[in-house]
Formats: sequence, structure tokens, C-alpha cells
Amino acid sequence: MNKSKYDAESLPDLLPLYYKRLFPYGPYFKWLSYGGVQKTVFTHREFSFTLKDDVYIRYQSFSDQNELEKEIQRRCPYKIDIGAIFTHRPKDNKTVKAAAFQAKEKELVFDIDMTDYDDVRSCCQGADICLKCWPLMTIAIRIVDTALREDFGYEHLLWIYSGRRGVHCWVCDEGARKLSQSVRSAIAEYLSVVKGGDNQIKKVKLNRDNVHPSIQRAIKIIEKQFDDYAAVKQDFLSSDEKVKKVLSIIDDDEISSNVWKVKEFENASSKGRWAIIKSALEVEIAEKNRMELRNRRDEVMLQYAYPRLDVNVSKGVNHLLKSPFCIHPKTGRICIPIDLKSLESFDPFSVPTISQVIDEMNDTEKTDVGQKKVRDYKKTSMAASMLVFDQFMQNLEKTWQGKHIELSDMKGEF
Ligand SMILES: [Zn+2]
Repeated sequence: MNKSKYDAESLPDLLPLYYKRLFPYGPYFKWLSYGGVQKTVFTHREFSFTLKDDVYIRYQSFSDQNELEKEIQRRCPYKIDIGAIFTHRPKDNKTVKAAAFQAKEKELVFDIDMTDYDDVRSCCQGADICLKCWPLMTIAIRIVDTALREDFGYEHLLWIYSGRRGVHCWVCDEGARKLSQSVRSAIAEYLSVVKGGDNQIKKVKLNRDNVHPSIQRAIKIIEKQFDDYAAVKQDFLSSDEKVKKVLSIIDDDEISSNVWKVKEFENASSKGRWAIIKSALEVEIAEKNRMELRNRRDEVMLQYAYPRLDVNVSKGVNHLLKSPFCIHPKTGRICIPIDLKSLESFDPFSVPTISQVIDEMNDTEKTDVGQKKVRDYKKTSMAASMLVFDQFMQNLEKTWQGKHIELSDMKGEF
């Protein structure tokens, strides 16, 4: 028997140990203090806890790392959410006039959840994921990450595995933290290309003559993986019904009848069928000059693989989002940072679980008696993802090192 196998019933026994010995309070506090340049950045931040039996407590706040640690260890939350930085300490919210108690700042955040792709994945539905649909997350991360860096100039992006079926992005640049609700909404809309509910067949309509450069770039990213993802992993044209779906997105009678006339179509694989559909489009465009079909191939690819954001999470300054390093109660997996340098090989099923890291910690304890003191999480499978976090922090720290110099220069002048 694999002794590290996670069992949800054991969570109440595991959490106290995890929060006592493994939760990376130091780096976590350092992140959320942003160098202490602004004094209230940590103390006025809202945390919320979900306790056993879904007891939900909002407006928690802490004066320092020590208080945060003690409270997390006392409550052992099943889930920790991070909210906004308020005008006042969130725990004092009842003593402050409601109108004065306002959310001021928060990281710009993105939440991408596999359940929003149910109409374009055939392997699983709902909360389930597998390695055949996971590439959707990989593609989403690449596209959103590139857009945030190249189109908005953001540099301090922290990508986190949500523990089960999706990913979160925390944009931590100072400018991003200070964005208003309306600008956050505009950015989320800018990154929303797939539109319409379950009843809408065609969910992407590109401007015929002028496709936005950000979308052109996204198409290139999708194109690289589309054959392997859609044709091989999803087998997206393996039945008449699936073919009909793609043809209805292309939405052209001529194409629909032409592909079925191709002798090889019937017995072709999804990859072969996709090639036939693409060439049918090219023929119509080149030989009959039907320019209205020019974007149809791309519209299919975008509908099948462009990121689907939960825009409400991004829009609100005071919207809460699950904290990094939480444990997902159902899977036991730790919400760890994702290394974009090896994104394509990230495997959600090899993300360490709480039971695994506790076993690893106990195992090394037996063998390294007398060794010099090393943080417990560094002795476990969390170590690799903590290196990703360290790298993120090193870059972030450079931004406030500059600030401290500016501030001390100013003091010198007066
Ligand atoms: Zn799947």
C-alpha cells in the first residue's frame, strides 16, 4: 500500500502538522508585505478562512507574521482566501463606518477553470481533469502570460495550481495592484475571445480584415499545440457528431458538403480530417476568392483552445481568491507555484499532496538526526516549487529595493 495516498477523511489530522511545520510563512509574509514600503499593505489585508463544515469567516487581518502564523495554526483552515487591502484593518470593519471601509488595492488576478471548457473536451466533464485535457491549461497560461507581459508590460506574475481543476494567476506589479475596477474589467474583457453560452454554436467571431495582434499571437500559440492536443489527445473529429460541430462553427454549406466528398475523409483520423477541412477552406479562399472564410480555421482553433477566464474574479478589487500553499480538501494537493520554464511538462497528478509531504518530512527526520537546521518544507517535494516562488520573490524584491533608495533619498533632501 502506498502510505502517502491521500484520504480526505484524514485532513483534520494532517492540517495541524502542515500548518505547524510546512506552510512557508516566511516567504508568504514577505510576498504579502511587498517590502514594507507601504506600512498598511500587510496589516490591512483581508484573509478569509473556511473551517470544518464550511464555516466561513471573513475579514481576518493580522499585524505581523507571528499573528498570522498563530491564527492559522489555531484555526487550521480547510481553505484560506486572500482578499483586498482595505482602508482600515479588516478585523475592525464593524467599528468603521461602512462607507469609509473600502477595498483599495489587490493584485490583478485570473482564475481559469477546466469546467468552463466542458463543451470542447470529450475526455472528462465538470471537476474531473486528465492529461488529455490538461493542455488546455498549458495553452491558457502561455496566452495570458504573454499578453500580460507584452501588451500590458507586467513582469511579476505568479501562476498557481489551484489544487484540482485549474490555475490562478496573481499579477503583483505595483501598477496592477492599484488598478481600478473598471480597468480590471477592461483587461478581463480584452482577454475574453470566446463568447456566448451553451446554446451559442459559434462562439468566436473575428474581425474579417483586421485581427487584433494579441489574438494573432494567441493563434500562433494554439497552432503549435493544436494537432497534438485537439487531434491526437481529444480526437476531436472522431465521430460524425464531432465533425458536425466543427463544421457548424465554420458555418458554410459549401465546406460542409465538400469535406464529406473527399474519399479519404470517412476513414481518416482526426488529424487527417482536420487537414482535409483546412484544405477545403484554403481551396474555397484561393480558387473562389471567398475572403469571408479567411478566419474560419482560426475561429475553430480559438473556440477549442483560447483561455476561458472567470471574468468576475478578475473584475472586483475585493474579490477573494484561494491563497497559494493552501491544500485542496478533495485532492489533498498543495496549491503550488507553476514553473513556466517547464510548463509543458507540468503534471497536475504529480503535484505533492499533504499526506505525501508530511510522510517525506517524517522520513527525513529519522535519517538526518544532528544535521543542521533546514526548513521542513525544503526536505519535501515542496522544495522544487518553493524555488519557483523564490525566483519570483527575487525579481519582485528588486522593485522595492529601488523604492527604499528613493525614500531614503527623499528623507535626505528634507
Ligand atoms: Zn480530461
